[in-house]
Amino acid sequence: MTEPFTVQRITHLIGHEYWTGTSERTAPVYNPATGTVSGHVDLASRELVDEVVQRASVAAKSWGATSMTRRGKVMFTFRELLNANKERIAEIITAEHGKVVSDALGEVTRGLEVVEFACGIPHLLKGGHSENVSTAVDSYSLLQPLGVVGVISPFNFPAMVPMWFVPIAVAAGNAVIIKPSEKDPSAVNAIAELWREAGLPADVVNVVHGDKEAVDALLDNPEVKAISFVGSTPIARYVYERGTANGKRIQALGGAKNHMLVLPDADLDLAADAAVSGGFGSAGERCMAVSVVLATDSIADELVARIAERVHTLRTGDGTIGCDMGPIVTEQARDRIAGYIAAGEKAGADLLIDGREGPFDGDPNGFFVGPTLFDKVSTDMSIYTEEIFGPVLSVVRVSGFTEGLDLINASSYGNGSVIFTNDGGAARRFEVEVQTGMVGINVPVPVPMAYYSFGGWKDSLFGDKHMHGPEGVSFYTRAKVVTARWPHVTHAVGASLQFPTAT
Ligand code: NAD
Repeated sequence: MTEPFTVQRITHLIGHEYWTGTSERTAPVYNPATGTVSGHVDLASRELVDEVVQRASVAAKSWGATSMTRRGKVMFTFRELLNANKERIAEIITAEHGKVVSDALGEVTRGLEVVEFACGIPHLLKGGHSENVSTAVDSYSLLQPLGVVGVISPFNFPAMVPMWFVPIAVAAGNAVIIKPSEKDPSAVNAIAELWREAGLPADVVNVVHGDKEAVDALLDNPEVKAISFVGSTPIARYVYERGTANGKRIQALGGAKNHMLVLPDADLDLAADAAVSGGFGSAGERCMAVSVVLATDSIADELVARIAERVHTLRTGDGTIGCDMGPIVTEQARDRIAGYIAAGEKAGADLLIDGREGPFDGDPNGFFVGPTLFDKVSTDMSIYTEEIFGPVLSVVRVSGFTEGLDLINASSYGNGSVIFTNDGGAARRFEVEVQTGMVGINVPVPVPMAYYSFGGWKDSLFGDKHMHGPEGVSFYTRAKVVTARWPHVTHAVGASLQFPTAT
């Protein structure tokens, strides 16, 4: 593979400055649409991470003591800067991730919504106050920052996933160290530059690039009080176990296998549209992608025909030229997806549309896989049981509501699920009984708005708190309750060893 002359060095952003040290280890970053190396990212050593944690720890003390008004001003300025720069950031995402520019812009916009939510931090940090809980005694609660927190993110949303966390953590008064995916590291740097421009003090947001060594350093350093992780299930489990063993607060989101159940009374055009946009948006590299359609027998033929008709119209190619679907992030990921397609075919599923051969509207060296549709998939096939994380949609035929619901609930994953129906009773039973953290009714991808919390169940989330919304605020703060008496007494009440009860 030839490297263009413009190959750039992508390095850490520490104390608002790009790091000038020498890195012993680096990793190549690709433009997946052309298959060429566009950059080399520095991989931090444990020593460098520890140094950054030390700096962040100092910054956290003064930032946490900064008034909410001043913190709020930084947040509002950052919001304006991010909004003004969103197109530029979307282009950076497309150049390293591959997703089409409109999709990249969508992810920045969803991140921006979390920033807007975090701008309301004075309201979000209001505690409770109870007057006269005992005679002349008041009780009230405080929400205080944790100190230094870490954010470790996956490749598939290089801007949005860090923004699920960073704005709320910063607004709540913490210092944050971000460890982006080494596959598409540049978007986080571009966003971190905006924090500097917004007037955030140095070292409140630092970016450290790296791999397992940097992650382990964050997990082991006692000054890091909490970690938010998003990635595959085995690594999420590992991060949760190692982090909690070290006494940290951890929220670790893992993989997904999201099902869409279509009942006979559903609007089939609406359902087919949703299956295609949920299944193939961002080339299926979304944790909320629909990867399985559970089609009830009586409408299955018709539904599959309508999905296939739409899939045939999709154009796969370079993300910058108006295609529907861009390339896959790396050559290895492309080959892995192609391997699943081969396995599904071999296992006997009906391969209705095979995305392996194209046509692709882009450089022949790009990492492309077109939309792929399987029908009559059975639940013992690897295309059903494993997360493919690519543009492969499997249709499983079910006898009705109960079989569909049971299948979803038998999955080891529990991120999102969707039902398409016009029967309110069935939809209500679904929302009550389904074992996923996010539920859609006649909508394809139920990603909650910033003021609700995002997160799955079972192997899709290790930890107790979901992301952003009220649970995000709770994750980044520690509660304290004060019970106070300010007596205007003229004499002492007398010491008592009795257990205190309200009087
Ligand atoms: P990944 O697990 O390979 O990497 C995630 C992060 O972990 C990266 O920053 C990476 O550098 C780090 N990492 C990788 N190997 C490690 C190791 N051995 N030890 C310590 N750290 C390690 O995930 P990915 O391929 O970047 O992202 C795709 C995965 O993320 C999919 O499984 C997808 O479902 C999941 N995801 C889940 C959600 C969700 O909301 N549940 C959202 C987005 C992505």
